[in-house]
Parts: sequence; C-alpha cells; structure tokens
Amino acid sequence: MSASQPNRIPIKQIDLDATKQRVHTRFVTGFYQNIRVVTMYALLAAFLLLPWLRYDGRQAIWFDVPSQHYYIFGMTFLTQDFYFIAAFALIAAFTLFMVTVFAGRVWCGYACPQTIWTHLYQHIEKWVIGDRNKRIKFDKSAMGPTKAFKRSLVYLIWFVLSVVTAATFVSYVAGTNYVFGSWQMFGIIPFPDWPTWIWVSMFIFTFATYANAGYMREQMCIQICPYGRFQSVMFDKDTLIVSYDYERGEPRGARKKGTNPDDLGDCIECTMCVQVCPTGIDIRDGLQVACIQCAACVDACNEVMDKVGYPRGLIRYTTERQLAEKTPSRVLRPRLFAYLALLAILCGGLIFALTDRVPLEIDIRRDRNQLSSMNAQGMIENSYVVKLTNKTQDEHTYKITLAPQEGLSLQLRFNDVPLVAGESFDMSVSVYGDPAVVASGQTPITLNVISEDGQYSVSKDNVFTTQGQ
Ligand code: SF4
Ligand code: SF4
Repeated sequence: MSASQPNRIPIKQIDLDATKQRVHTRFVTGFYQNIRVVTMYALLAAFLLLPWLRYDGRQAIWFDVPSQHYYIFGMTFLTQDFYFIAAFALIAAFTLFMVTVFAGRVWCGYACPQTIWTHLYQHIEKWVIGDRNKRIKFDKSAMGPTKAFKRSLVYLIWFVLSVVTAATFVSYVAGTNYVFGSWQMFGIIPFPDWPTWIWVSMFIFTFATYANAGYMREQMCIQICPYGRFQSVMFDKDTLIVSYDYERGEPRGARKKGTNPDDLGDCIECTMCVQVCPTGIDIRDGLQVACIQCAACVDACNEVMDKVGYPRGLIRYTTERQLAEKTPSRVLRPRLFAYLALLAILCGGLIFALTDRVPLEIDIRRDRNQLSSMNAQGMIENSYVVKLTNKTQDEHTYKITLAPQEGLSLQLRFNDVPLVAGESFDMSVSVYGDPAVVASGQTPITLNVISEDGQYSVSKDNVFTTQGQ
C-alpha cells in the first residue's frame, strides 16, 4: 500500500444466497419438535384461514386501507383510532420482550414466519428429492433430465406457495371477496381484475416470500434479522438457552474398538446435532447468534443418548447460571415484575378504552369563512360542519339536538341521518342566537347525537360566538 493510500478495513463479503451451499437439514422427531411442528403449522393455518372467517356477514379481520376502516370481529376502527393499533403493537412488543428474557428465542424457533416458511419449503425439497443424504447427493450430481425435472418441480411448488401467501396477505387488506372473487375472461383464460396496487402488492409479497424462504433461508436469520442480535442483549444468566453440556460431553469421540469409554465424555461425535440444525451450526461451539433455539439438536441428541444408554440432556434447555455456576435458576426476578406491571397497565388501559368506547363518533368544525353573521330576522347565525361516523356493524339512524339553552336554537338540513355500518357523513348545521338574550362574546354549546333506538349516544362541546357582528 502506498503512503498516500488511506488505511482501509476490509469489508467481509456477505453472501445471502443460501442455495450455493445449502443447509440440508435432517428432519428429526422428539418432544420439542412435536411442540414446534404443531405450533408452527397451527399458526400457518391461522394465517391462511383467518381472512375467510366471517362475522356478521363481513370479513371478520379486514384492514380496509383504501376506505380507512379496520374491522376486527364486531369492532370497527377508523384512522383516528390509531392509538388502539399502537397499544396492540406495544403490548405485543412487551410480551415478546418478556418471553425472550425468560424463555430465550422461542419466537425464533417456534413462531417466526421466517422459520415456519423455511421449514415448509425444506419439507417440499424433502418430499420431491428425498431425505438429507439424497439431497446432498442430488446437489452434487450432474444436471440431467431427472435433476432438471425435480429441481423445477421444487421451484414451481415454492412459487405456488409464495403466490398463496401473497394472496392471503393482500386479502387482509383488500378483502377475500375482491382478491379471489374479481376475475374476468381473456378469451378462455380467467384473469384477476385487480387494480394496480393489488398487482404491485402481489408481486412484492410473492417475491419476498420466495426469496426469504427459498433463497435466503437461514441467512435471513444469521445475516439480516436485527431481532436475533437484539435478543442476545436481553438475555441474562437465568434466560433459558439451548446449550451443550461441555463438561459432560468432552473429550468427545467415537466409541471405536480399543477406546476406553471412561477416557471420553458422553459426546460420541455422531454429528446428529449438526445434521438436524436448520442454520447449519454446531451447538457444541457455544451459544451463537445463528442459533434460533429450535431445540432440534436437543431431540436429536436425546435420541442418540437413548440408543447408547447414556442419560438424556447432553444438549438441553438450561441457563447460564445452572450450567456455569451450578446453582438453580431464578424465575422470580425484578425484571419479571417490571414487565408484568407494565403489561398489566397496558392491557388494563386497552380493555378499559375498548369497553368504554362508543361506536359512534361526532366531530364539529366551525365554518372557517365567518365566525358569525346576522340573518334577515335579526338572529345571529353560527355555522358548523358536523361529521358523524357510525362505527357499529349495523345501519342506524341518528338525530342531532342542541342541549337546551335560552336564546339558542338549532337548524338542520335533515332531522334524521341514516348511516350504514362504517359510514361517515358531513352535515352543515346552523345555530341561531337571539341577540337580546345571548350574552356577547362566546357561549359554550353542546351538540348531542343519539341513535333511533337510544342505544348509542355521544356529545361534543363547541362555542357560539357573537364576534364578527
Ligand atoms: S448429537 Fe449429541 S452425541 Fe452426537 S455429536 Fe451432537 S452432542 Fe455429540
Ligand atoms: S443449534 Fe440446536 S437449537 Fe440452535 S438452531 Fe441449531 S438445532 Fe436449533
């Protein structure tokens, strides 16, 4: 390097293409894998089926962004109810933080969409090509008609699954009726009749699903996902981690003829823990960011221990305190109480806000052009625009009245305002004041709205002004 050249730190090249050196996971069964598979596929089924659920004749969970109405079963939220969504997100985030502090990366191993879709896509490979050894051999074999066919079949199934995933995602926003129900014929070929934003969303979600689960796979967890790194910072000595018992396992070694087993630890160097690892790491190297704590290595090693007649748990869920300090872990610790208190406050506040919420909204804006004017009958007139929103699931007719006040009267364009579920309506109203009775300056007024059956009512304050005369 010449003296004029600045010192450069070499940047490590990151290759996100997991297909160049595929991790061919050996699928294993066992206690944790049974829990994992049931959890993962239950979540997957929930994701795929929830948009098809109907409540009161409408899609039960529907985030109708174009009309800015968000339906969650019997509740309708509008954009101005965004704080409910923010509260839901906060509760979900703090629940995740709390679970991570106590149970480690269970989200990553058991519930993360990346893990679920990667598991599903690897199963497709296993189904088409064969188990781990066959897949490794398949990768190394020369390209021929059979290899081309099988590889294409895998890619085709991945693509179909990606399209189904994208269509489901978009259904939460556009509605299943629209995504799956609007087709037109191009000759004899049916084609979806979607607006541009749906086509763009479909393309983005299809591409993202295919790339994440088929192409990047474990590299997504290792190189990109910030939550994997972030979680490690949240761990303490009592956080559950999947760990190899180094003291018990070492020195590791195969039980060859002539070897005295007493000279070796319990690890028989079968590498099953590495073969089943979805991120391709060796848990015996210690806790690593790439470990998503799926516990596949726990189940695999337990099976091996059973076969060789050693006690289970050479790889197990444990804590740093148990492993390094040989003392029992503490579950009840100050962080738990802090998280629980925070969650209790957030959940309590949200439940109160939801139960206290009236599914009817009134907003009053003053006519900005003129504060007040005098009409031909000598009455002072104040004009307002009243916005009514029916947030119930049914059609209702509403009446607007002015809280009785001497010298003030209300004039409406319509006495009854019928609104279908979720509808908003802006109506101009005028309040007249007798100058002989109404005090000069500003007088507080209240507008009341009530549904025809008396079930829902709201009030909103504003002012009547004599200024501008
Ligand atoms: S599965 Fe268990 S015995 Fe086999 S290599 Fe891994 S730790 Fe050792
Ligand atoms: S090391 Fe074990 S727990 Fe961690 S990702 Fe691999 S198989 Fe799962």
